[in-house]
Amino acid sequence: DGIVIAIDGPSGSGKSSTARGTARAREMRYLDTGAMYRALTWWVLHNGVDATTADAAAVARLAAQPVITMGTDPTDPTVRVDGTDVAEDIRSPEVTSGVSAVSAVPEVRERMVALQRDIIAEARRDSGGIVVEGRDITTVVAPEAEVKIYLTASAEARAERRSREVRTSDIAATRADLMRRDLFDSSRAESPLTQTEDALELETTGMSLDEVIALVVKLADE
Ligand code: C5P
Repeated sequence: DGIVIAIDGPSGSGKSSTARGTARAREMRYLDTGAMYRALTWWVLHNGVDATTADAAAVARLAAQPVITMGTDPTDPTVRVDGTDVAEDIRSPEVTSGVSAVSAVPEVRERMVALQRDIIAEARRDSGGIVVEGRDITTVVAPEAEVKIYLTASAEARAERRSREVRTSDIAATRADLMRRDLFDSSRAESPLTQTEDALELETTGMSLDEVIALVVKLADE
């Protein structure tokens, strides 16, 4: 049977690239659960409901309607809402600012978690398994996963974000500054791995994407 690799972490932690790269390397399927919450948010907005006004009843009613179809090939992951390809639209600023409110609605989470578990069960049965990324995969969706990782933001990713915020193009200087503060702030041991209650915490500061992927693949092979 196929195994499950669950990867949680904050935005900008390199979760998606790591999860996709791992799935490609191990010839596993790939599921971006954030894309599912974004897809429902797109649907809510598409139907004229302002997600951010937090009309939870309207959101819950709408969220029950569309068929969400996830393509789990890591080289070409797709997301469809009632057959419409929304891969690009779900990255819009409107969806990004509404997705937190939509994903906080209990009926939405219930439906998405059930769908995620169906996709995981099918991948276990029919393939080499699946890499699933999100916020609650190691704790709620698949606590039984063979590999559970909590990825923290890399200096690179945070530096890029921070550079955009402060409108500087000198990412290298911003990164150096972040790393210097990391050194001051961190009492962490030299190992990038720390066992938390639910998952292995992976601090990727100073690691390349390929190194992070290789480490996750190694954990999966053990
Ligand atoms: O990962 P991404 O930034 O695309 O996720 C978009 C949003 O979806 C997150 O900010 C979060 O509000 C929600 N989400 C969630 N549970 C997940 C994945 C994403 O609530 N498992």
